Amino acid sequence: MTTELPADLPHHRTPVEEARALIVRAVTPLPIEQVALRELAGRVVGAPVIAPHDLPRHANSAMDGFAIDSSTPSPWPLSAHILAGDDPAPLTPGTAAAIATGGVVPDGADAVIPLERVLEERDVITALAPVEAGAHIRPAGADARAGDVVLERGLRLSPLAASAVSGLGLTHIPCARRPRVVVLTTGDELVAPGEPLRRGQIHESNSVLVASTLAAAGCEIVRTGGVADTGEATRRAFADAIADADLVVSTGGVSVGPRDHVKPALRALGVEELFWRIATQPGQPVWCGTAPSGTLVAGLPGNPLSALVGLHLLLIPAVRALTGASPEPQTVRAELTAPIGQLPARLRAIPMRLADGRLEQLGASLSHQLARAAQANALALIPTGDGELAAGTVVDAVPLD
Ligand code: AMP
Ligand code: MG
Repeated sequence: MTTELPADLPHHRTPVEEARALIVRAVTPLPIEQVALRELAGRVVGAPVIAPHDLPRHANSAMDGFAIDSSTPSPWPLSAHILAGDDPAPLTPGTAAAIATGGVVPDGADAVIPLERVLEERDVITALAPVEAGAHIRPAGADARAGDVVLERGLRLSPLAASAVSGLGLTHIPCARRPRVVVLTTGDELVAPGEPLRRGQIHESNSVLVASTLAAAGCEIVRTGGVADTGEATRRAFADAIADADLVVSTGGVSVGPRDHVKPALRALGVEELFWRIATQPGQPVWCGTAPSGTLVAGLPGNPLSALVGLHLLLIPAVRALTGASPEPQTVRAELTAPIGQLPARLRAIPMRLADGRLEQLGASLSHQLARAAQANALALIPTGDGELAAGTVVDAVPLD
C-alpha cells in the first residue's frame, strides 16, 4: 500500500503553516520545574533569568600588568602584588601595584598598564607609552547589571547559556518540563535490526529517526515500540501511549488501506482530529489530533523520508510550543546547486547536503530512499509553483543535525 497519492487527486491538504498553527493552538505549555546546571543544556527557560548582582561584581584587570593612577607621572615605585581572588588595599598614592588578569583594581587606581608596555627595574615601573584612564579595566557591571534579564523566557539553553547561568552564581533555574514522548511503529512487515529478514520483510528504521530527533529536540523518550497491524493492538498501544506521554508519535498505518488502523483507533479513543493530510511532497498523509487528556497524537506516514517531513515541519515545532519556545521552524537560507521542479499545490521537502550555504541534491527524492538520504544534513523546502527553480535559487532549509 503506497502512502503517496498523485498530486492531482482532489484531497484536501492542510498547508504546513496552517497545520503548525493548529498544533500550536491545541497544545498547553508544560509545567515549569527547577533544573540543575548540568541538566540545563537543551532545556527551555521557563521564567526570565535575572542577574543577582553586577557582572563583573568589581572592576578588575583585563591584563597581567600594573595598576596605577593615570594622573600620577611615571615612573612609579612598586608597592603591592594583587592576584585574582585578592581583596586589595587601596593603592598607595604615586605607586604601582602589580596585578594579575581578573585581580580587583584597588581603590585609587584608574588604569592598568600591560606588562609588555613597561620597563621594570629594581621595583620601579616606567611606562613605555602614555596611559589613559580606564585602560585595560573591566568595569563592574560591564557584562550585566544587577537586575538585568540575562536569559529570556522561551530561550533554548545552549551549553554556553547554561554556563552563563553558572556565572551568575545560580545552581538551578526554572525550565519547562521535558515533553514525554512515546514512539509507536506500525507494520507487520517490520523486523528489528539485527534480526534476519524473511522475503517481504524490512528492517524497522523509523523509531530511531523519531526518537533520536525528538530526544535531540529536548524530549524524554519514554519508550518506543512496535504495533501489530490489527485494530485491537493499535487501540491498546495508543491508549497506553496516551496515558504515559505528552506527545505520541506513530509511523505507518495511517492511510486508507485494509491494514491501516491508526485513524479508526484514535477516533475510537476520543482523539479529536486537528487535521488529516498536509500539503507536502513527500509526507502528505499525516493525521494529528488531541486526546481528551490533552496529549498530542501524530500519525506520521510509514515511509522514512515522509515521516522525516512531518517530524521536522510539525513535531519539532510542537515540542517547542510545549516547552514555551517559539514554534517557528529554525531554517537557514541556502542556494540550490542544481535545478529542481516545483509542485503546484505542495511544498516539496527534499533531504540534501548543505555545505557553505549550498544545497547538493542526493537523488533521494522518493520517500523510501533512506540510504540515499543518509548523507543529508538539511531538508530543502521547495516552495509551491508550476515551474522549475534554477540552480542558484536561494531557498529555506531545515538543518537536520
Ligand atoms: P504504511 O504507511 O504503513 O503503508 O507504510 C508505508 C511504507 O513505509 C511501507 O513500505 C512500509 O514498509 C514502510 N514503513 C512503515 N513503517 C516503517 C518503519 N518503522 N521503518 C521503515 N519503514 C517503514
Ligand atoms: Mg503499514
